[in-house]
Amino acid sequence: MKELNSSALFARKALLPSGWHDNVRVLVESGTIASVSTDADPAPSDEHHQIILPAMGNLHSHAFQRAMAGLAETRGPSDDSFWSWRNVMYRFALTMSPDDVEAVASQLYMEMLEAGFSRVGEFHYLHHSPDGNHYSNIAEMAERVAAAASATGINLTLLPVFYAHSDFGGLEPVEGQRRFINSLDSFERLMVACRSLVAKIDGAELGVAPHSLRAVIPQELLAVTSMSGGGPIHIHIAEQMKEVSDCIAWSSARPVEWLLDNAPVDQRWCLIHATHMTEIETARMARTGAIAGLCPITEANLGDGIFPGQIFCEQGGRVGIGSDSNVLISLNGELRQLEYSQRLRLQARNVLAAPGGSTGRNLIVSAVRGGAMALNAESGIEVHNSADMLSLNLTEVPYLEDDEILDHWIFADGVAIDNVWVQGRRQVVAGRHVARDKINRRFLTTMQKLVRR
Ligand SMILES: [Zn+2]
Repeated sequence: MKELNSSALFARKALLPSGWHDNVRVLVESGTIASVSTDADPAPSDEHHQIILPAMGNLHSHAFQRAMAGLAETRGPSDDSFWSWRNVMYRFALTMSPDDVEAVASQLYMEMLEAGFSRVGEFHYLHHSPDGNHYSNIAEMAERVAAAASATGINLTLLPVFYAHSDFGGLEPVEGQRRFINSLDSFERLMVACRSLVAKIDGAELGVAPHSLRAVIPQELLAVTSMSGGGPIHIHIAEQMKEVSDCIAWSSARPVEWLLDNAPVDQRWCLIHATHMTEIETARMARTGAIAGLCPITEANLGDGIFPGQIFCEQGGRVGIGSDSNVLISLNGELRQLEYSQRLRLQARNVLAAPGGSTGRNLIVSAVRGGAMALNAESGIEVHNSADMLSLNLTEVPYLEDDEILDHWIFADGVAIDNVWVQGRRQVVAGRHVARDKINRRFLTTMQKLVRR
């Protein structure tokens, strides 16, 4: 049985689902928000903070790729592209041991917490040993990811990835993909193991992730989605123009068009990237209720393209954000890049806000809601939700109020994360994770070995 621990936070301001409120007292019991009082008086033992917000889910991560952050920014002999980046990524993936992955994931999840993320959706596909054989425990690598989540205190939504082919039409996988590949039988065994792993971790959730339309054939897509057990279903889609033209060559349909015609896409689905869509595809996808899992920093880094955000949001589409390749971990940076890419494309300002509304607030509120839906976990400062919150430090901008604070946090540089709580436990204090030194020492030893081997 869980130990019953109880604590209370008192904030001068808090962003609740109903909007801004003053003098908010949040009572936390056993990791869950037990009560929220507004216009309240603090009790003598309350912790005091200036402003608290809901923490956010990071809906798309490949943890091992954090090891290559900044190491693929040298131009090759000809034009560089996503596909040459992917070759570097495969080489990295083939060198990492389970210990290496755990050390890198721990550093990454610590950085996510420091950035204001309280949950990670780990789109986990580095499953097998470097020679492609299964580890004796088929979930060895998933256990290392889960160990990193537990060590840092971040909530985990584990999304085991089914990956079987190298391209449309069921082509054989290539050598560099050997650590990712499963049959439907071995994937089912992996899912069983992951289900019991997740059941042992407070607040953890399980979903499923057919990697992409390149990596699964239609029968496999349906078989894998039927293994979701009611959890979320994530898939990479329409990230690159080559993928769109290859999909058309294979099926005469564009990737999102094909998926909407052939799979039961609904609000349990999260379509990662969905960058290249026609207006019709964009409106159709919005109507399904599926989340668009946007990774604006990675999409910019890889030269993917720009998500049709204005049309999607006008049609009632829901979005969340992820850090994908983990080249840079920044919650406000992802939201800024999302809005700025729209501005550059449309030559307009404040694109992803309602008329008269704050862009920063709309981005944060949308991404909190979309991230929660995509990761199968409620969020927001509300009774019964996990006590996942952050406080901001306004020392440099004490003159700001309400939405100005959010706009400044997203677009300027005077607001910093102060504390982050996950399940009521304070994992970040004054901007630093409570176990930063130990986690970082292990990461540096691992990186020295990986990069200089
Ligand atoms: Zn991805």
